[in-house]
Amino acid sequence: MEQRLKELETLAIEQVEQAQDLKALNEVRVAYLGKKGPITEILKGMGKLSAEERPKMGALANVVRGNVAEKIEAKQAELEKAEVAKKLASETIDVTLPGRPAPTGNPHPLTKVIEEIEDLFLGMGYTITEGPEVETDYYNFEALNLPKDHPARDMQDSFYITDEILLRTQTSPVQARTMEANQEKGPIKIICPGKVYRRDDDDATHSHQFTQIEGLVIDENISMSDLKGTLETFAKKMFGEDREIRLRPSFFPFTEPSVEIDVTCAKCGGKGCSMCKGTGWIEILGAGMVHPRVLEMSGYDPKKYQGFAFGMGPERIAMLRYGIDDIRHFYTNDQRFVKQFNRV
Ligand SMILES: [Zn+2]
Repeated sequence: MEQRLKELETLAIEQVEQAQDLKALNEVRVAYLGKKGPITEILKGMGKLSAEERPKMGALANVVRGNVAEKIEAKQAELEKAEVAKKLASETIDVTLPGRPAPTGNPHPLTKVIEEIEDLFLGMGYTITEGPEVETDYYNFEALNLPKDHPARDMQDSFYITDEILLRTQTSPVQARTMEANQEKGPIKIICPGKVYRRDDDDATHSHQFTQIEGLVIDENISMSDLKGTLETFAKKMFGEDREIRLRPSFFPFTEPSVEIDVTCAKCGGKGCSMCKGTGWIEILGAGMVHPRVLEMSGYDPKKYQGFAFGMGPERIAMLRYGIDDIRHFYTNDQRFVKQFNRV
């Protein structure tokens, strides 16, 4: 019996050593130490032994049992440790891999250009002012020196809601409102960005709804050179430091004199190409000195105050800057178009 126990011990320890994983180890445990295992069997057969041998064998069986259990425990700890290490290795995160970016939206190119222009003028001390898109005939036309029978009204086909109310055709009514609301009739320095509406047939360069940014400066001793300096700064910031501007005489009912501002063509640098139609210049905005009648209608004394105003189309600025050839791209919301203008 002693021999048998020793053999069992050797065999059990051998199998414990060979166990590759926790499952195999558990099988060894059940096989040797379980209720139906050989050691239990031997202990059950103790009754057949003599009174002298019984305690000796009992003690030996317990030692063998203890030794095997101890080996199993040690092996279990070892296997558990290995399993954790294996799991950690398989779940390792490669921190050098670039992350997967979460899908995000991006600003519309028009929004980008408008915000950039706003920032530029804010930096020059202007404030941003807004006004209603549904406007009265008075502010949209009359207060801007465009009485009801004025032929220049035909230049702006309008969406009338009633005889006196329309969708504004320009952002200039915000100027009239601001001048009128200024109780002290003192200096003003504003830009007014916003949507405007005209009864145009949509094509590559026309849209029935588009945006404008209007600027207005009112103060004493304001002259044409202030206007030129301001718009030169604007053109260089928007289109590049090497760009030049020129002023061409023009006509707007609310300014006198009126000018159109051209900037040198980026493509040919002024030599003349298809983009600038051979002239070397590209028109970017209209401007002028505020008409004395407009000042008067808003309660300003034109002998004391002068001002300049300018108006530009952010669509045109964006088209020139990004080489966009069709104004409709801004409004059809094709994500493939919009996504090209990420803010980076
Ligand atoms: Zn050119």
